[in-house]
Amino acid sequence: MNRLLRFLPSFLLGFLLLAIPMPARAGKDVDLRLKTVVIDPGHGGRDAGCVSRDRKTYEKNLTLAISKKLAEGIREKYPDVQVILTRSDDTFVELEGRAKIANNAKADLFISVHINAQDGGTNANGYSIHCLGQSSRKGNDLFSKNFDLCKRENSVIRLEKDYTTQYEGFDPTDDESYIFFSLIQNSNLERSLQFAEDVNSAMKGGAIKHSRGVSQDPFWVLWRTTMPAVLIECGFISNPTDLDALRSEKGIGNIAGNILKAFIAYKTRYDMGVQEESVKEEIEGKESQAEVKSGIMYGTQVLATGRTMAEDDPYFSGYAPYLLKGAKLNRYFLGVSDNREEAEKNFREIKKIFPDCFFAEIKDGKSYRIR
Ligand SMILES: [Zn+2]
Repeated sequence: MNRLLRFLPSFLLGFLLLAIPMPARAGKDVDLRLKTVVIDPGHGGRDAGCVSRDRKTYEKNLTLAISKKLAEGIREKYPDVQVILTRSDDTFVELEGRAKIANNAKADLFISVHINAQDGGTNANGYSIHCLGQSSRKGNDLFSKNFDLCKRENSVIRLEKDYTTQYEGFDPTDDESYIFFSLIQNSNLERSLQFAEDVNSAMKGGAIKHSRGVSQDPFWVLWRTTMPAVLIECGFISNPTDLDALRSEKGIGNIAGNILKAFIAYKTRYDMGVQEESVKEEIEGKESQAEVKSGIMYGTQVLATGRTMAEDDPYFSGYAPYLLKGAKLNRYFLGVSDNREEAEKNFREIKKIFPDCFFAEIKDGKSYRIR
């Protein structure tokens, strides 16, 4: 082609270039790879976080050490990925400010790093990974096992000067304040859960032995971020075995290294563009209860949630939703058709109302992201 162009008189070349239909701008300019990650070392400055029983080790120092190590690992592996820390030294950063850093940077992923503690006990141990929301399972909702943990992590806002105005009356210690979390619609949940599962698998057999699993819980900082976001509790400062690992450089390196492994797995799939959205979850969870229709359909996924929504919920803006029921999540699609062209036409319209929706193939009760 280049050789041919050299032989053409320049005016003819100009004419040819004008005549060639240019690809749509959006397709050319938008880079869909994972480009920016924000790592959030929990606590800092006057907020020590949890403290070991001998008062020698503070959560804020451990979260910073793990986060820095993780940042270093990502920068080394992906020099073109922008890695931002919400703090890189022992300073106090407001909870809202942490989310703002990620939102302003238009980050593709937010990783908040914390250390857990048991009130008055030493038995509880292990790591856990949290996404926003509440579990769909009965008796396992936000008022159960992780609620005290959420309250404690959210309570750091009480150390902030203007917390009553900044947080619109939200009181982190008051159960009633959490009710609004149940109304959350989060279209990033799907990817948050994927990364959470990646972290859960990567950390297995590591310095912190026991996995407490992945769950959905009402963490303020996860609510305020506008991208896939997870919060990792990297072991218990109150448990002697976990604390031994957390106090050693090797242990910190192992935890950071395993989160890096999860990041690589997640980014690799993310950058490929076509993602299988639900298979992993179905393997770990129960069988899909989806009413399996034979053949392939196409549609626009606008919501993944633990809740069951009414068909006429205003959220769907008048569209008739198509529900794909998974073990953990209900996925809602709009503009579904077995005709791909028609579904793509619908997608372009739906995207105007739901900017972060995505086009998907629906097959055998599973959905696959298609860009
Ligand atoms: Zn914490």
